[in-house]
Amino acid sequence: MTAITNHLPTAELQRLDAAHHMHPFTHGQELRDKGARVITRAKGVWLTDSEGEEILDGMAGLWCVNLGYGREELAEVAARQMRELPFYNTFFQTTHVPAIALAARLAELAPGDLNHVFFAGSGSEANDTNIRIVRQYWAEKGKPSKKVIISRQNAYHGSTMGGASLGGMSGMHAQGGLPIADITHIDQPHWWAEGGDSDPQEFGLARARQLEEKILELGEDNVAAFIAEPVQGAGGVVIAPDSYWPEIQRICDKYEILLIADEVICGFGRTGNWFGCQTLNIRPDIMTIAKGLSSGYQPIGGSILSDEVARVIEGHEFNHGYTYSGHPVACAVALENLRILDEEGIVTRVREETGPYLKEKWEGLCDHPLVGEANIIGMMGSIVLTPDKDSRAAFAAPEGTVGLICRERCFANNLVMRHVGDRMIISPSLVISRDEIDTLIERARLSLDETYDRLKADGLL
Ligand code: PMP
Repeated sequence: MTAITNHLPTAELQRLDAAHHMHPFTHGQELRDKGARVITRAKGVWLTDSEGEEILDGMAGLWCVNLGYGREELAEVAARQMRELPFYNTFFQTTHVPAIALAARLAELAPGDLNHVFFAGSGSEANDTNIRIVRQYWAEKGKPSKKVIISRQNAYHGSTMGGASLGGMSGMHAQGGLPIADITHIDQPHWWAEGGDSDPQEFGLARARQLEEKILELGEDNVAAFIAEPVQGAGGVVIAPDSYWPEIQRICDKYEILLIADEVICGFGRTGNWFGCQTLNIRPDIMTIAKGLSSGYQPIGGSILSDEVARVIEGHEFNHGYTYSGHPVACAVALENLRILDEEGIVTRVREETGPYLKEKWEGLCDHPLVGEANIIGMMGSIVLTPDKDSRAAFAAPEGTVGLICRERCFANNLVMRHVGDRMIISPSLVISRDEIDTLIERARLSLDETYDRLKADGLL
């Protein structure tokens, strides 16, 4: 068999890909007909494909390459760690320096008394861990009936059976008999789509109070935890009205419901602070982390627990763990990533400089005839496409048709922007410069113009 390398023609790589590689969240047959784009290398915020095109990655991979691509230091650390200790587990009363050092650093960075880290290989695995932790916590406290976890419609918490059950994506629940038992969902604080004529702040309060209603309906003695992303990411970068989170916090405190903040996207600088819960003033008992923890250079995730939750869990043997919990190479790379984010002042720069600059430019897109609203916090943003801004109308075409057209135009213009229904979203690397932000906005605007022309031509507008 010929060696499969970057030197093969794109068509041949696509053929082999279609023949043997199954892609996540993809209609396989559709992709087979079209051929996947083959990415060959990357540097900073720029991807290069097998045709030599330079593409601005407006999504930092999958919201994860916070530090940007191509940092030699991370490669060096990985190689050094592989030579010294490529693997050892953290089961059976053993440990190693990378896991110790990363856990200690995370305890420093995490707010309040979130001081204890249980490592996993991904965000999904970490959320599965969380399901077991919160149920075990209450069982140990003599309240085994407290099992139900309340989540939100349109949330994303992963693709494992537990993660997808916590998530509120109906398309995922429809495949494989989900959600698993004792997980239930309340409505999301998505004013644009679901707020009707209500005032956004009133709407935010009403949506938060659904948590209280749900707790009362189920009985406080049956509820273990509430889980939410500080800002819903995969659901479309949905930022709750300001009234929402203080009310959620009040309700969790009042009924002693554990609050899990899923920081897989919001963590590690994306919202302009180390964690989204700091930006939004939330006090979680557990945080889920992954993605930006290693900037995607190595697969790693984890759960950070408060002193109290950890104390209870550690009172007995916790029958849970992954072969790669605290993988030494992943931990060493994550630690180096955190060092660079900190020492180069990248999180502060997002908060004080590039974040506000991107916000101004992103909100400027609202003057486009297709753009109804822009949402942005730090380095994650969305715009909603609409045929009529005043009535917040949806297009007559099935939801997502227009978003997909726009995403294709972005792709053609060498910009990676994702669509969620008819919302366009961005989540660039935190190292993006002002010039690169200008390029991102120029390409986004051009793609919006082309989408507009296409909608007119096809009679969709
Ligand atoms: N939680 C959130 C908020 C996420 O956005 C994601 C991934 N997009 C996950 C969990 C799952 O993480 P992973 O894909 O690493 O399993």
